[in-house]
Amino acid sequence: MIPNTKHTGAKSLAAFERAKQSLPGGVNSPVRAFQAVGGIPPFIERGEGAYVYDIDGRRYVDYLLSWGPLIAGHAHPDVVKAITDQATRGTSFGAPTEIETQLAEELKQAYPSMELVRMVSSGTEATMSALRVARGYTGRSRIVKFTGCYHGHADSLLIRAGSGVATFGLPDSPGVPSSIAELTLTAPYNDIDRLRMLFEEYGDDIAAVIIEPVAGNMGLVLPQGGFLQAVRDLTLAYDTLLIFDEVMTGFRVSYGGAQGKFGIDPDLTTLGKVIGGGLPVGVYGGKREIMEQVAPSGPIYQAGTLSGNPLAMAAGLATVKLLQVPGAYERLESVSKRLVQGFLNAGKRAHIPVQGHAIGAMYGTFFASEPIVDYDSAKQADAQMYREYFHEMLERGFYFAPSQLESGFVSLAHSDEQVDQTLAAMDDVMQVLAKR
Ligand code: PMP
Repeated sequence: MIPNTKHTGAKSLAAFERAKQSLPGGVNSPVRAFQAVGGIPPFIERGEGAYVYDIDGRRYVDYLLSWGPLIAGHAHPDVVKAITDQATRGTSFGAPTEIETQLAEELKQAYPSMELVRMVSSGTEATMSALRVARGYTGRSRIVKFTGCYHGHADSLLIRAGSGVATFGLPDSPGVPSSIAELTLTAPYNDIDRLRMLFEEYGDDIAAVIIEPVAGNMGLVLPQGGFLQAVRDLTLAYDTLLIFDEVMTGFRVSYGGAQGKFGIDPDLTTLGKVIGGGLPVGVYGGKREIMEQVAPSGPIYQAGTLSGNPLAMAAGLATVKLLQVPGAYERLESVSKRLVQGFLNAGKRAHIPVQGHAIGAMYGTFFASEPIVDYDSAKQADAQMYREYFHEMLERGFYFAPSQLESGFVSLAHSDEQVDQTLAAMDDVMQVLAKR
């Protein structure tokens, strides 16, 4: 294994030591601490376009993009202007503003299944609230999620989850009461037979099935042909609500998300990340009849002091506008596909087994010889190889997700030249790994 601190500058090392005195593990979200890959994370000073710069003055091409939100790249001038213009007029009012409706209208247009939406401040809040609505609307208590899908850290959803939880091997977190956990049923992703069995046993009490329609938190795993439609059909047959968690895939796999791409009509949808343009935002919404049950129009309670925050709305609106430019998604997908193809070619040339796929502005790469179709197959991927690859690429100035069980992201700011450099580095690194 690569020495832990080989690539980290002196200032970042010192900053991490200092951070650990005040923050658990030195971070405010677990995956940032690099546990899966080892080493000390560089501390970031600023970002510009596709680059981030650390406090030691090192520059990286960023394929993590704050874990997805920055589809326009760092500090895009339109987004910065929208935020600063709004900031001069005030940062929060806790009262209605027109910009909330403007963003809501854009979302509804892009996601016709969302007839009414409620803004919140994170993806976790969005999924947690969507579950409450599903339970309140149906009067049922159980939910189904898929193994390896991550939907934020609410008690009901931190069960066999992916992302940092997958990485750390904590299928259930201490602090989640078993009485809550037992209401969450799980099935393997892409396994409609297991889902059908759950419905046969518990169907009358299943309020909702929640799914990442393209799974992004066990690495990127695509839904197999017909799987999403089969989930839709099954949920309809049992009067169970279907929640598409598009916090990651929304405005990423296409402008209309996975539901637009695959032509599925969910009952409820959650969004986050991109629609906040780098500021804290989440949204849940869906069919009018269901969402009208939310307070104050209905009895299901949910609220937030900073919900619909004007700075976040402004950043989100500016980002969504940039994605409306013709050709934006063709560009994004050409970059993600080139990256994956380059990874596959480099692996092949070095005789290292690799897998990968891209969709829209997301991609996934694995060191594995078998196709990745669910959490079990994703976990088979070679973690040690990824660690070495990650550090070698980081040293060369390319910042990837600090775990193989995470998706990669591209932005409108990534240039062909930056991608060329990335592919050359991948090829070089694979050769290095092959000789170890
Ligand atoms: N759902 C999905 C699909 C996610 O990818 C994430 C975060 N990665 C969340 C929910 C939770 O969002 P947040 O971190 O903003 O709470």
